[in-house]
Amino acid sequence: MDNQQVKPDRGRRSFWTWGWQSDEPTLGQRQEMAKHLSKRFGRKISVPAVPDIEDLELRAPRISVPDSLRNIVTTDKAERVIHTYGGHFLELNRALRGDFAEPPDAVAYPQDENQVEAVLDWCDGKGYAVIPYGGGTTVVNGVSVPPSARGAVTIDMERLNQVLEIDETSRAARIQAGIFGPDLEDALRPKGYTLRHFPQSFPWSTLGGWIVTRSGGHYATNHTHIDDFVESVRMITPAGWWESRRLPGSGAGPSPDRMVIGSEGTLGILTEAWMRIQKRPVFRATAGVVFPTWEKAYTATRHLVQAKLWPANLRLLDPEEAGRAAGLNGKQALLIIGFESSDVPQGEFIKLAVDIARANGGQVDDDEVRVSDGAGQATGREGAVGNWRNSFIGVNAGLTNGLGLIGDTFETAITWDKWPEFDAEVRDKVGRVLKEVVGEAYTLSCRFTHVYTDGPAPYYTFSGMGAPGGEAEQWQTIKDAASEVLISAGATITHHHSVGRMHAKGWSRQTPRLYGSVLRAAKKILDPNSILNPGVLFEP
Ligand SMILES: Cc1cc2nc3c(=O)[nH]c(=O)nc-3n(C[C@H](O)[C@H](O)[C@H](O)COP(=O)(O)OP(=O)(O)OC[C@H]3O[C@@H](n4cnc5c(N)ncnc54)[C@H](O)[C@@H]3O)c2cc1C
Repeated sequence: MDNQQVKPDRGRRSFWTWGWQSDEPTLGQRQEMAKHLSKRFGRKISVPAVPDIEDLELRAPRISVPDSLRNIVTTDKAERVIHTYGGHFLELNRALRGDFAEPPDAVAYPQDENQVEAVLDWCDGKGYAVIPYGGGTTVVNGVSVPPSARGAVTIDMERLNQVLEIDETSRAARIQAGIFGPDLEDALRPKGYTLRHFPQSFPWSTLGGWIVTRSGGHYATNHTHIDDFVESVRMITPAGWWESRRLPGSGAGPSPDRMVIGSEGTLGILTEAWMRIQKRPVFRATAGVVFPTWEKAYTATRHLVQAKLWPANLRLLDPEEAGRAAGLNGKQALLIIGFESSDVPQGEFIKLAVDIARANGGQVDDDEVRVSDGAGQATGREGAVGNWRNSFIGVNAGLTNGLGLIGDTFETAITWDKWPEFDAEVRDKVGRVLKEVVGEAYTLSCRFTHVYTDGPAPYYTFSGMGAPGGEAEQWQTIKDAASEVLISAGATITHHHSVGRMHAKGWSRQTPRLYGSVLRAAKKILDPNSILNPGVLFEP
């Protein structure tokens, strides 16, 4: 395949930070960050050079591409480099260090379903591992090549990127799996619609990736995961097509959609889906409520969500996060409340929500409760809420990559009855391990990304300075401690980051044993030669 043909229009993906080459930080920005970290940790930190792709050592492709597929399959070195890793910080770090021990042998760019099928048939016949690839933003090792593979082909879906049909009467759209978030919204916008699903990785991730990983958007209540927007799916498996019927709802047995949603490329390749869409919001209201303590803040959040006002957003930052991301004093917690609607003014709802927050110890001045009447006034972009929003959108892994920082997140969900004790246990046990592994100067903070009437979805962020060269082992020790607390406390191993290879063990511990056996049996039927994403979901 001619390399020019495979270049996406938006430029090339970066192999060492999230997004495209245009998202890569400059050397100056990285040096500034190194200076800041040197000061914080009292250690001289230098900035490693980014290797040139041409200088990287890759094993020769172990496969030969048949003539019939040469126009869509490439063994180009740069393509293999770009598709070796997902977006976990350790993966990006290995890439920056030039470690490409397990690259795919080839990358396919099918342009239609027939071509997806042809690549899958070829790999199935040869026993090559197939790695479906959307935006490559997985943070759970979902797109890496397992060392056991005798040959591996990554199928990049980015050319199946169209909104094919909009059914305005039913408010649904038929959309190809490889479309990136911004392109999807651009295609729906002219008719006034939106999918309204915005994971933090929105600019770089795809509809297919969202569906098969059960992605969580940034709205905190109602439709938190992509699941509820999926009307029907179309997936190709080595055993044939899996297409479900478009239905607004159905009580007919275990759902065929549910089997695909969350399958993480292990049962087939999702090519398109009918998605429920909605009118774009016009009316908005938002408030940032400050609480003197974390306890008061999460109690207020519980009362608020249980009042069933269904705000679009109810995002709670603990004092550490509110200090760092929103500029508060490090002792106060911040609750961001947001309402929106395409048809109904939201002023009354925010008033009720703020009343509940104040009754539970929250503080917000009346003039900081912003209500937009639909005439285009911005809300949620000012003050502490605006500060938080900018830091949320502006994340860039490349800034700290290679500087020795161990910085990661783990997210979960747990019922309210277990909540405060669970939080205390996480902070105690994970905090102790962090202290042992990276020393006193660690951080461990929490926010609620989503809240349900029966429990929150807490999202913990930790960081500390690692020992040069030992970051992977140190991270593993911290991750193991966190996973153990989650599973033994009765929480989930992941609320929205998915299972991948990283969480396969934890997931098998939290699901009924028989359920695991049933899924393995289903995989045997759909993927008899076990070529699809080996090691993802199911431990080898
Ligand atoms: C900065 C950052 C922020 C993030 N924020 C969020 C967040 O807010 N919410 C959230 O849920 N997640 C988040 N994630 C994780 C990640 O973005 C999601 O899991 C996302 O859904 C992955 O989409 P993708 O298109 O990048 O898929 P990929 O990373 O390419 O793939 C993910 C998995 O799905 C499989 N796959 C991809 N496409 C297909 C297909 N068409 N058919 C079958 N299998 C397929 C892959 O093999 C892989 O196992 C974040 C990640 C990063 C790096």
